[in-house]
Amino acid sequence: MSFNIEVLRSQFPILSRKVNGQPLIYFDNGATAQKPQVMIDALNNYYSFQNANIHRGVHSLSQEATTAFEAARTKAQAYFNAAKSEEIIFTKGTTDSINLLAGSFGRTFLNEGDEVIISTMEHHSNIVPWQMICDERKAKLRIAPINEKGELLLDELKAMVNEKTKLISIVHISNALGTINPIQEIIDFAHAHDVLVAVDGAQSVPHMKIDVQAWDCDFFVFSAHKMFGPTGIGMLYGKEHLLNKMPPYQGGGDMIKTVTFEKTTYNELPHKFEAGTPNIAAGVALSATFDFLNELDWEAIHQHETELLAYATAELKKIEGLRIIGEAANKASVISFLVDGTHPFDVGVILDQMGIAVRTGHHCTQPLMDWFKIPGTIRASFAIYNTKEEVDKMIVALNRAIKMLR
Ligand code: PLP
Repeated sequence: MSFNIEVLRSQFPILSRKVNGQPLIYFDNGATAQKPQVMIDALNNYYSFQNANIHRGVHSLSQEATTAFEAARTKAQAYFNAAKSEEIIFTKGTTDSINLLAGSFGRTFLNEGDEVIISTMEHHSNIVPWQMICDERKAKLRIAPINEKGELLLDELKAMVNEKTKLISIVHISNALGTINPIQEIIDFAHAHDVLVAVDGAQSVPHMKIDVQAWDCDFFVFSAHKMFGPTGIGMLYGKEHLLNKMPPYQGGGDMIKTVTFEKTTYNELPHKFEAGTPNIAAGVALSATFDFLNELDWEAIHQHETELLAYATAELKKIEGLRIIGEAANKASVISFLVDGTHPFDVGVILDQMGIAVRTGHHCTQPLMDWFKIPGTIRASFAIYNTKEEVDKMIVALNRAIKMLR
């Protein structure tokens, strides 16, 4: 499929609305991406005509809903090239996936004195669950450092790996800086030292296709809402032999084979990790999202976003007193910046008055902001449907905001 930005934009109804009397310019894609009509229709259709609980009903509607929900699993397997659909565990999102992983993996594989490595640029959801489980298991959480450009210091990370290291849990693309980490090199090094690797792919999925078998990562997590899908659903991919060794994270319906008051036996993968009624509607809508994603020309998107990033970076740098935070050589289309003499919050509010949605604050990466010795940034994060014209309008609006604030 050729890349036609107007055709693509027309599939996202929200992009045609106005905010504060101005055409919406949505540059908060790092927080959540906008939704294509096919996904919205699937959600609507499920609640209108297919709604039933899944997995345990003999009636037709239940079986139809089960098929529609399970289609998302098969499509996820194909999309991320997992070896088996059993390796796809549905969760509420990235945060839920990492909590599942930390809780279940931690209780099986972490013992006193063991070590888990994360990095300085992690989102809180890849910090706090590890802090909690490391506390519980008396394990040590180690933090791989970064440089001034916001790049991981790979040699230092490698030097941290020792016989006590059990897992490296690392973000692929930093939501605050846009830095793309060298995941393949980390995995290859880790595996050579018998260390497992979990990848936080929350920010990768809207920008590129991921092949978990090509990487050979042990775990991969993401949220559907960041890749044009619904909220309330995400995924934990794990290698089957590892998931089989891990105990259930939550107890309840669906995750059991048999229950007696004396002893309960657990279900097989993937249901062992999916207690209770899942977000069925979101699963059905995620299935439609995969159809949408499969139609995209990812090479053309990569080129488009690379150009957008280069253009916006150059234009922003023309603004006097503007400082970009995070200038990694390998970056996704995310730009964090500060403007001398202004507070990010004030800039965000003024841009909003002009219909431009950016994010301000610490982006759930407080330790990273502390490392840069800043309270937060203004972040413009671009997606497949953003344009240079929109960047131009942001630059005009920024100059106006700066004049008002200085
Ligand atoms: N990890 C990264 C890198 C993120 O950007 C985010 C969300 O911004 C998360 C984890 C958490 O995702 P969610 O809030 O969907 O669970």
